[in-house]
Amino acid sequence: MTSIWDRANPQLRDLAAYEPGKPIEETARQLGVPPEEIIKLASNENPLGPSPKAVEALRAASAFAQLYPDGGGFILRNAIATNLGCARENIILGNGSNEIIEFLGHAFLQPNDNAITFQHAFVAYKLVTALFGAQTTEIPTPDFECDPEALLAAVTPKTKIIFVANPNNPTGTLISEEKIDNFMAQVPQNIVTVLDEAYFEFLDNPPDTLRHVREGRNVVVLRTFSKIHGLASLRVGYGIARPELIEILQKTRQPFNVNGLGQVAARAALDDCDHLAQTRKVVDAGRAFLEAEFAAMKLRFVPSAANFVLVQVGDGASVFKKMLARKIIVRPLAGYGLAEWVRITVGTMEQNKKCIAALKQVIA
Ligand SMILES: *Cc1c(COP(=O)(O)O)cnc(C)c1O
Repeated sequence: MTSIWDRANPQLRDLAAYEPGKPIEETARQLGVPPEEIIKLASNENPLGPSPKAVEALRAASAFAQLYPDGGGFILRNAIATNLGCARENIILGNGSNEIIEFLGHAFLQPNDNAITFQHAFVAYKLVTALFGAQTTEIPTPDFECDPEALLAAVTPKTKIIFVANPNNPTGTLISEEKIDNFMAQVPQNIVTVLDEAYFEFLDNPPDTLRHVREGRNVVVLRTFSKIHGLASLRVGYGIARPELIEILQKTRQPFNVNGLGQVAARAALDDCDHLAQTRKVVDAGRAFLEAEFAAMKLRFVPSAANFVLVQVGDGASVFKKMLARKIIVRPLAGYGLAEWVRITVGTMEQNKKCIAALKQVIA
């Protein structure tokens, strides 16, 4: 009998599944302990929780959960546009910014097309590219240094998209505004450049990448409510681009791709300046603490601009398991070709201290 796989699209055969951070509930079940005892530092979530304003708005909006959401996302897109000083027509909403990466595949990638990104880049680019039967060219990054000029040499007539995460996940490295500008000055106009800024709000001196949108370049800037705003469970992200590009991406989405509760919560979180400022403060202090402790432990780490740190621990899979036994979830990175490393999200100071104490036992 022939396998149904023979009927499936061939690129699906070898397509790897995205490996998310291990969930708290699953870990608690396996260890036989209450979920409250588990510390998850595996998915770059906000250690302070969601914006309280978002929670309040969610509560009120839950009474209307029987209604379909505004598929056009009028209120949220307007609010984001006002916040950024652009127009609603410059904004597309996604079920997380991950969904917008998929829209880009729907819109631009066909079998045997090419996309370019850095080695150790956020893995969703490669997965989406493969999903559409296209190939990814990965540009080596010795010492994790990302110079976008190096991407240009790999451009071929088949290249449709260049993906750059800034800061990058899982490395936390930041590309300067000058380097981005230099790249944008040289990249062929018929290539869509994606600047994924999921950690933008954590930056001290964020690069002004929206300038390239304003100047009408084929660039899509991605942001999300999952990280600093603490709304990862609700799945809301957005893309910023020139209106013609947004129009193309809008064609690829489901009519109600972002749920109504998510839209309401994101709207409220957007101007919760207190929550943003508090989160930044906790993350700045926590990241400095983790990096100082890694240095004291003589562990190599990559200085991070985001709310996580990549640290070299020897056998990443084994450290992950031993940390798990101590009720702390970190992120192993074999799937990123970083088997000797783990990625640790900055938590509350109490969580960071417990994490370091456990890591000292595990590595000793
Ligand atoms: C977390 C993350 C995202 C997106 O997350 P969503 O929850 O889908 O919005 C996108 N890019 C990078 C680099 C990330 O780390």
